[in-house]
Amino acid sequence: MTQKRAAVVGAGPNGLTAAARLARAGWAVTVFEAQPTPGGAARSLPGALGRGTIVDFGAAAHPFGLVSPALRELGFNDWAHAPLPLAHPLEGKPAALLRPGLKETARGLGRDCQRWELIHRPMVEDPERHADNVLRPMAGWPPHPVDLTRFGLRAPWPAQALSQFFFREEPARVLTLGSAAHALCPPSQPLTASLGVLFNAFGMAGGWPVARGGTQAIIDHLLGRLRAGGGQVICGQPITSMDQLVDAGGRAEWDAVVLDLAPRGVLGIAGLRLPGRVAASLRAWRYGPGVHKVDYRLNAPVPWADPAVGGAGTVHVCGGVDDIELAARQVAAGQLPQRPFVMVCQQAVADPSRGPVLWAYAQVPNGYHEAYPGQVTERIEAQIERFAPGFRDLVEARRVSSPAQLAAYDANLVGGDIAAGAMSGLQMLARPRLTAHPYRLADGVYMCSAATPPGGGVHGMGGWNCAGRILGR
Ligand SMILES: Cc1cc2nc3c(=O)[nH]c(=O)nc-3n(C[C@H](O)[C@H](O)[C@H](O)COP(=O)(O)OP(=O)(O)OC[C@H]3O[C@@H](n4cnc5c(N)ncnc54)[C@H](O)[C@@H]3O)c2cc1C
Repeated sequence: MTQKRAAVVGAGPNGLTAAARLARAGWAVTVFEAQPTPGGAARSLPGALGRGTIVDFGAAAHPFGLVSPALRELGFNDWAHAPLPLAHPLEGKPAALLRPGLKETARGLGRDCQRWELIHRPMVEDPERHADNVLRPMAGWPPHPVDLTRFGLRAPWPAQALSQFFFREEPARVLTLGSAAHALCPPSQPLTASLGVLFNAFGMAGGWPVARGGTQAIIDHLLGRLRAGGGQVICGQPITSMDQLVDAGGRAEWDAVVLDLAPRGVLGIAGLRLPGRVAASLRAWRYGPGVHKVDYRLNAPVPWADPAVGGAGTVHVCGGVDDIELAARQVAAGQLPQRPFVMVCQQAVADPSRGPVLWAYAQVPNGYHEAYPGQVTERIEAQIERFAPGFRDLVEARRVSSPAQLAAYDANLVGGDIAAGAMSGLQMLARPRLTAHPYRLADGVYMCSAATPPGGGVHGMGGWNCAGRILGR
């Protein structure tokens, strides 16, 4: 029998997962990557802030990577855990803390203790079954329908409504709203509760780990699996037309072309080969807010006003409920918030091999250009300083990535959108369009990026599901 052949465009975690799964099934696979090194938004940059530092260019914390069936199946498990998955500092009060364990977290949430347990228990007790249910296209029969029903009672709500209706005190509310903020859309949007509940449940069940040695370790593992199956990666080759897909042996015939690209990239390369309705839905695709990232090298740990925050891998820095809601509304309205929502990752708390680095990004409008150089950095630092007075004095070096600079490193990050498309409204479920076969675009042409189910994050499930579809599984 002749060996089947696949070309994959884009060596992000989804492209490499698809490639590794196809190679494992006996296909001849070539991956074409625009940048000089593979990894997409899961690259790490050793030495970027001086000797002994490892900076994650994009993704840093991996609650979904930990429960991903793809990464489990492909054998990645080199995770490093901080003592606490998540902290959310509050002004003049103790921080809200997500601890390993449902009861351990609930005990710190005062009058919301029982309700917190009630909301999160099913997902904490069986995170793998819930991950199987949600890290896949929503159309079709779920693998664990009873569990999906339990989750489904909590998921459709806006995070704002769920937190106001169920919880009485600020700590439980900010933990919910802060985790829902990973959807990068206002918490008043339907379905945002689903992310708040899942992020927190997975954090209590298994943690929000980092990959030991940098997120690149996940990429290196996938590359190893691909190469073990005979696959190859050609870097430094931006693809602008399907005609460029020629392997090292000069062959240009493929049984499947898999695009690990945002809809804009797919249209640029394969637009003319797509049926009209598919191309139209990709043209109508909406991109979400951007992020503006700053990495720091510090000469001492962050002096959090509440020392407990120092033990957390991820820190949601924004303030109370009103601050979170205002920042989200302003970003949605195209304004830079005075007090933006800042995601902070203290990788070194879990993995000292990273050196004294701190990773932070602010949520900003898509493609936001600063009114003056350093405007967003100033606001990020003012936010951290609010909860960690003296932070600025510890900064030895900074590495700033604006939305435009992120997109220059990885064309999928359109306007700095880290999920290759807004995770709101219908796009939360129907990625890239409403269909039972979201990965298939045309005969022999497939798409597997974060713009397909289940969306953004380093879990490889877009690639895994897409390859499964190609293999007829
Ligand atoms: C700043 C930031 C922080 C993040 N934080 C987290 C986090 O903490 N946890 C988490 O799970 N996720 C996080 N994410 C999101 C996560 O990194 C992405 O959702 C994930 O990497 C998507 O994987 P992908 O394979 O779909 O695409 P990408 O990782 O974007 O990879 C796409 C690849 O395709 C290549 N490419 C694009 N166009 C072409 C072309 N024409 N020809 C050839 N190659 C091309 C790109 O160079 C890139 O290598 C973050 C992302 C960013 C940017």
